[in-house]
Amino acid sequence: MTPPPETAALIVAAGRGVRAGTGAPKQYRRVGGEAVLTRTILALLAAPAVTRALVCIHPDDGALYEAAAPMDDRLLPPVHGGASRALTVRAGLEALAAGPCGPPDAVLIHDAARPFVSPRLIAEVIAALDADQGVHDGAMAALPAIDALWRADEHFGELRCAAPLPRAGVWRAQTPQGFRFAAILAAHRANTDESSADDAAIARAAGLSVALVPGGEDNFKITTPADFARAERLVGAEMSETRVGQGYDVHAFAPGDHVTLCGVRLAHDAGLKGHSDADVAMHALTDALFGALAEGDIGRWFPPTDPEWKGAPSEIFLRKAMERLGARGGRLANADVTIICERPKIGSHAGEMRLSLARIMNVAPERLSVKATTSERLGFTGREEGIAAMATATVALPGTDIEGSPS
Ligand code: MG
Repeated sequence: MTPPPETAALIVAAGRGVRAGTGAPKQYRRVGGEAVLTRTILALLAAPAVTRALVCIHPDDGALYEAAAPMDDRLLPPVHGGASRALTVRAGLEALAAGPCGPPDAVLIHDAARPFVSPRLIAEVIAALDADQGVHDGAMAALPAIDALWRADEHFGELRCAAPLPRAGVWRAQTPQGFRFAAILAAHRANTDESSADDAAIARAAGLSVALVPGGEDNFKITTPADFARAERLVGAEMSETRVGQGYDVHAFAPGDHVTLCGVRLAHDAGLKGHSDADVAMHALTDALFGALAEGDIGRWFPPTDPEWKGAPSEIFLRKAMERLGARGGRLANADVTIICERPKIGSHAGEMRLSLARIMNVAPERLSVKATTSERLGFTGREEGIAAMATATVALPGTDIEGSPS
């Protein structure tokens, strides 16, 4: 009754997936700011029983894969897939068998385009493999056919109902499909039908016994643009916490020939006084992000008493705030920066500043706003004693991020 001590996940990501629209193959397109494949890999590695994972990719997708692969020691180097799904899985199984850890005891074969596989389903497929003490060589997730089934034919170019099909006992296959490793490797080696629908079909053709485990409606295969919209809704429901932070900063003018604002150097007849590069606008924005996370301010993360940050480019601070946002599982909705000074004139540089921030923060420029105003010659900014900046940042955090959050 003990579960297989070594279970590998084999993720099939070699398809071209053109049905979901143009651009990158669908497994590399983003849902909620993260590639579908990244989500799928993380979902499988989150299962306690999974000790390693291997992804089969298309030979042209090496760079896309590198960008999507999470940092995890259990993730093995990717393997190039073949001309059919059967050949792709075969290549992955052979790589697992020949790998440095030797063949695993069991393997979960899973579609890259099913990122919402639940920990429960993964555990149940693994459990079904050994629940009958060796009776089954495999276990497949599937859902019962609910709708009436019809065979259609074409009549003068139009689809037409031909005949109803019996629905009783009919199930729709999902993945993961789990197998005893030696059994499914032998079945794939013996398989001559490259058009096999999935691995359960190859297993059955080889005479293996495959248990059926009730799957999940959320474990759907992202295929069409409508599926992407559904996936975004699912991720959006997880991102239930919206938070706003504000930041404010002032730096005084000092002798100099330029100021740096939002990472852009502007010639001026004075400079700004400060421990770092005195980028007052970027400081306000960074504090807005730390504020939204309730993680203090720049001074907490980069103490001004520390000589290491003297003259430092302020993008180090901003990158740290974005890194903290990512570590909390959040993402930026938008940020708005207002620079307050009489001179230098900001307006014609605001677009460049926005692009500079977008590059540093790795977000779309459309999520950022940089604007400027004067204080009508009133107060310290009006007397040109310094520059002030204000910023707000709106972020989405996972609803489970905060303990005791209102439900
Ligand atoms: Mg400052």
